[in-house]
Amino acid sequence: MKILVLNAGSSTQKSSLYNFPQRQLLWNSMVDWTSGEITVKLANGIELKQTVGSRSRSETLSHILSSTMEKPDEIEVIGHRIVHGGRKYSEPIAITEEVKREIAKLSSLAPIHNPANLEGIEVTENFFGKKVPQYAFFDTAFFHSLPDEASIYPGPYAWQEKGIRRYGFHGISHEYCMQRSADILNRNLNTLRLIICHLGNGCSISAILNGRCIDTTMGFTPLDGLMMGTRPGSLDPGILIYLLRQENYTSEQLEHELNYESGLKGISGISSDLRQIISANKQGNLRAKLAFDIYIHRLRSFIGAMLAGLGGLDALVFTAGVGENSSIVRSLICDSFKFLGLELDHRLNENHPVDQDIATTTSSIRVLVIKTEEDLVIAKYCYDIQTRALH
Ligand code: ADP
Repeated sequence: MKILVLNAGSSTQKSSLYNFPQRQLLWNSMVDWTSGEITVKLANGIELKQTVGSRSRSETLSHILSSTMEKPDEIEVIGHRIVHGGRKYSEPIAITEEVKREIAKLSSLAPIHNPANLEGIEVTENFFGKKVPQYAFFDTAFFHSLPDEASIYPGPYAWQEKGIRRYGFHGISHEYCMQRSADILNRNLNTLRLIICHLGNGCSISAILNGRCIDTTMGFTPLDGLMMGTRPGSLDPGILIYLLRQENYTSEQLEHELNYESGLKGISGISSDLRQIISANKQGNLRAKLAFDIYIHRLRSFIGAMLAGLGGLDALVFTAGVGENSSIVRSLICDSFKFLGLELDHRLNENHPVDQDIATTTSSIRVLVIKTEEDLVIAKYCYDIQTRALH
């Protein structure tokens, strides 16, 4: 069964074509909106590069589909990662006009992501026709298990009746890493305490106790929690009142600065890409150093905050662009928890680990690097749903 998966991140648009049940990846593509580069990797290892140029988001996606799809009518099912599913969606769902309206309604809570997700749905509907079933997989679904004390903000009680609560994001990745951690450690998930750091352009942490997520750093929107590529993470809300009142900000200005002009990019003035921050820091750029120092400081603080709720820790897990690739970030974080008996094996850490335990044998806490596989998870669900539907 040929399954297409679309995954629009905040800085990238990934698409993958799978063949199931073999779990074979036939091609995948990534558009990096920051650099304007399109990369398509074929199953035989050939890599093709192009630039976005003057194409819009939808045009870029249509262009990728028309240049990679030799037989479009072979596609039996399409899965879309959708960032915000609100309180309504705790499970994957078949995409209908009503589901699309709900996703559009939730765009005000995830303005970078949900509109991009909807565009992806429109493009595939136009390209493959409406007969091909499409499913939505929500990043928020995994966090429906959050206990009230972690998900309800201590504002007036009426807020939570209006739906203002912590939803959490990156759920597909956190759920995958949770399961994969149990596999790698060869332990029963029901006896594990995990802290999972999803560090991409967007960043979030989840605390997992015995297979249930009990806390996470992203909140009502993907702005909360850790410092990110272009988002600040948690802020004193008094700053927003000050900017509105004293600096006459409009809500649009606030939204733009919080989503696109903050975080690593805002502080460094250089880039949202941590690689560029690290390299500028090495060359003595002081704002790059400050951006990196804040990033690490906030990461340490939030991991610390999760520890108490879990009552200890069995494994600290790193995933996504930064978590999988930056040995310096992993090392700085792990070294700050040495007092708990956590010992990183620095040789393993430097050796491009993938799905591997990189703690020393004597460490009291395991450290895992896991390649997140959001697209494969979505493809597998699509296969299961479609197979059930056909029987
Ligand atoms: P998205 O949130 O858009 O899905 P990814 O998970 O692909 O993003 O992560 C992208 C980020 O990963 C980039 O912005 C870059 O900062 C970071 N990254 C990738 N490789 C490295 C590396 N070797 N060192 C540091 N950061 C890296």
